[in-house]
Amino acid sequence: MKWLLLMVLCCGHVVASGQDRIRIGLFDGHLPKELSVTTESGSFEWVDREGRVLQALGKGTQLKCEGALMVVAGERLDYVCLRPTVPGGRVRLAYPGEFPTLHSGRFHFMVDGNRIRCILETGMETYLQGVLSAESGKGHHPEYYAAQAIVSRTYTVQALDRHRLQGFDLCDDVHCQAYHGLGTVNDTLREAVRSTAGSVVVDRSGRPITAAFHSNCGGHTQGAENVWQRPLNYLVGVPDSFCLAMPHAQWTKTVPTAEWREWLAAHRSGESTRTTFLPNSRVNFLPDSGQSVRAAQARAAFGLQSSFFVTVDDGEHVRFMGQGFGHGVGLCQEGAMERARLGASAADILHHYYRDVRITSMHALGWFLSE
Ligand SMILES: [Zn+2]
Ligand SMILES: [Zn+2]
Repeated sequence: MKWLLLMVLCCGHVVASGQDRIRIGLFDGHLPKELSVTTESGSFEWVDREGRVLQALGKGTQLKCEGALMVVAGERLDYVCLRPTVPGGRVRLAYPGEFPTLHSGRFHFMVDGNRIRCILETGMETYLQGVLSAESGKGHHPEYYAAQAIVSRTYTVQALDRHRLQGFDLCDDVHCQAYHGLGTVNDTLREAVRSTAGSVVVDRSGRPITAAFHSNCGGHTQGAENVWQRPLNYLVGVPDSFCLAMPHAQWTKTVPTAEWREWLAAHRSGESTRTTFLPNSRVNFLPDSGQSVRAAQARAAFGLQSSFFVTVDDGEHVRFMGQGFGHGVGLCQEGAMERARLGASAADILHHYYRDVRITSMHALGWFLSE
């Protein structure tokens, strides 16, 4: 709560659902001796919690830290904001030991004891460019990127409460959505975000959906209830042959039979001692387990790429042979990439993986879109 209070006091502006700017937790780590903060374009200035301008940010600046405080223009501070003096500038930020990342927006640095946290306050559409780059990679069809941009925007809208108690909206990791800054954003990604600006997917009652996605479904997606124990009418299993020749379509893993046997014994009800399972489609429960062992449980326990697999036990080792990569719920990215390449529109793609949904504008949900 301390961080949240600081944000309210220092900025007079806390972003919440219904506004256009979002706050991303960039890092929270031990207080280093210094942080590298470099202007890449535009101009920025350091501001204290009362909004007093301390000094302009030079071309290449180290934010010095001493005795559990930051030092800017000779002042020792537990909070400092770096803000653009004109819109649109970019700053390159490097926490020691991590790759430098490029961002646009305002940066809030906060020190508490021997820890420092940085929260980026930026426009939703700018943030989405970075997410698209981190979550999708390069070289795919523009319609795939358009679909993924709508998915990521919907996911963002729906996930905004996740880190409220820590004083920001989303983290920059896969826990929320991967965001590694704007350094690898190209024109194709910018255009995908621009051309879909404000578009989100809503369910039949008009609420933004939980826009789950994964790398490859292995030929059939998974219903939400099989992974998260809660059914959602738009996240049902659907067939998908478009991902079967893609890079993450198949995998294998071998573990000692004793390990598999012991795990099964601890988790299944009933008398079965079976260790070989050969279902011919995606199953929620391992056969003969008395509906007590979910395939998703086995995936988590053995670090499998997916919960869509068969097992063959030779008495010494069990070989898992599986399809797909990820939890299998919602949009299959590699299937979507292939559909786009073969001519599907972003809307076609979204309506295949999310059932009984509409694509609408955030305006309709009462969101502001100005950057
Ligand atoms: Zn998170
Ligand atoms: Zn698929």
